[in-house]
Amino acid sequence: MSMHRTSEKIGREPTDESKDRSDFIRTIIEEDNKTGKFGGRVITRFPPEPNGYLHIGHAKSISLNFGIAAENDGECHLRFDDTNPAKEEVEYVQAIQDDIRWLGYDWGEHLYFASDHFSKLYDFAVELVKANKAYVCDLNPEEIRQYRGTLTEPGRNSPYRDRPYEENLNLLERMKAGEFDEGARVLRAKINMASGNLNMRDPVLYRIVKTSHHRTQDNWCIYPTYDFAHGQSDSIEGVTHSICTTEFEDHRPLYDWILDQLGIFHPQQIEFARLNISNTVMSKRKLADLVEDGEVTGWNDPRMPTLTAMRRRGYTPEAVRTFCTRVGVAKRQNVVEMALLEHLVREDLNIKSRRVMAVLRPIRVVIENYPKDQVEELDAINNPEDPSMGSRKLPFSRELYIEEDDFQEDPPKKYFRLAPGREVRLRYGYFITCVGVIKNQIGDIVELRCTYDPQSRGGQAPDGRKVKGTIHWVSAKHAQRVEVRLYEYLFKSVESDGKIELISNPNSLETLRDCMAEPSLIDAIPGHRFQFERLGYFCVDTEDSSPTSLVFNRTVTLRDTWSKIQHR
Ligand code: ATP
Ligand code: MG
Repeated sequence: MSMHRTSEKIGREPTDESKDRSDFIRTIIEEDNKTGKFGGRVITRFPPEPNGYLHIGHAKSISLNFGIAAENDGECHLRFDDTNPAKEEVEYVQAIQDDIRWLGYDWGEHLYFASDHFSKLYDFAVELVKANKAYVCDLNPEEIRQYRGTLTEPGRNSPYRDRPYEENLNLLERMKAGEFDEGARVLRAKINMASGNLNMRDPVLYRIVKTSHHRTQDNWCIYPTYDFAHGQSDSIEGVTHSICTTEFEDHRPLYDWILDQLGIFHPQQIEFARLNISNTVMSKRKLADLVEDGEVTGWNDPRMPTLTAMRRRGYTPEAVRTFCTRVGVAKRQNVVEMALLEHLVREDLNIKSRRVMAVLRPIRVVIENYPKDQVEELDAINNPEDPSMGSRKLPFSRELYIEEDDFQEDPPKKYFRLAPGREVRLRYGYFITCVGVIKNQIGDIVELRCTYDPQSRGGQAPDGRKVKGTIHWVSAKHAQRVEVRLYEYLFKSVESDGKIELISNPNSLETLRDCMAEPSLIDAIPGHRFQFERLGYFCVDTEDSSPTSLVFNRTVTLRDTWSKIQHR
């Protein structure tokens, strides 16, 4: 798959989620409020189709619709666009509501389903037939396509276009009564087969679908199309501003046409550019494919761009909301770097999360001059950004684990961590010096022998001597073994001819089963987030973790690539 990319970079200015932000949609609404177009009312809606989980693109639409409603003392409706019984499931209806609530938005009593409006929509269809503005067409889907013409060629009128309205009415009723097979007949608007806009070439309004619906069961065997359901549902609910993405711009003439024929309340459709993000795909269909093909473990696989996955991974709703504000609203498409979202998650977690020490790839260190059975309690700060989070006691003993790559036997210049004969500082602990390396038969390092300076407790030597490196550690006999899952992007983007190609990243998940964490993590529960010092932010997994075997997802690393991208 590929997409064009503009090199535009957004979100440079640090802004908060302030009320006084503006964009072209808010400007239109302000204007409407001034002129009294809708009597000063602002009613928006978020209209998901329950055929998958919400993704970060939806979050932008949610933040926009709910945000605008709140700023104007209005309402934002949650309306499920459930007009396609073949693809929709109750599971998604529930999950979508959970995700919107998680983001921090509330529709109050305004929960609707397009299917709530099916009777009214049918009455509207009858009205159009009676006004000779719609007809029953017996062409099959393939024939309808052929008759439609192309962008350069006008379409041809259906041979059924001039049926008398009584016949249309009769056939529509019989379609509704289930007399015909799927695909045998459709109801079409009678507009203009020569229109430059393909959507206006007698679009289909109703089709026969003999599938049970998750809400209306078998009450209906004809279902309205998106174009027929959407505008009329907006109208029935009194939506004033129907905000959607730019692919619906060409549908607006149809949206307006139907409302005008019916002479009912006419909301204003406004389009904005959908959110695209680097290194991932966003359409529900593609995400569903990843799930079905087993490329990921489910919609909530922490690598997915869905809200349920981001929550599981440890992203905070605050960071996602700030992200939606920062990317802003515009007419023009662009691609936003995932690094911006990660940057905002990092900023939020920096303030909120407790620091702990954990070693992902442990190597044993024995401190030869430390008394065998001695255990000391060292003081460690929980969050230097927030003194109110206090401190904790860290046990220190003769045997420790440190990170495998904090030691090099033959270090390059400028390597300031542990090496034979070199001294480093253990975070909150002592200075240690490496005095020996123990290997197994095949030459792998299995243990480091060190000595410590008893005078350097707390990380300062009395003689003022300096060490450059500070590394993290855990006491071996106090450590608990935990599983850690590290993530990279699901896709790598490769640029060729100014186009970005996404190719699947085989390293998107790395599972480490023998990580060692400090004992204070004993009280960690699913959903808790921590900073593992020097390694990133981690969240206890909500699916696979148990009190006896903790599983952590790395939410983000500590390395902020956003600042680099920003200044590139
Ligand atoms: P997808 O293409 O991912 O399946 P969709 O548009 O079919 O998305 P819907 O459930 O119909 O999904 O979307 C509900 C609302 O969310 C619509 O108003 C749609 O315009 C908006 N939306 C979907 N994707 C994005 C996106 N990437 N950026 C902004 N808004 C989006
Ligand atoms: Mg859709």
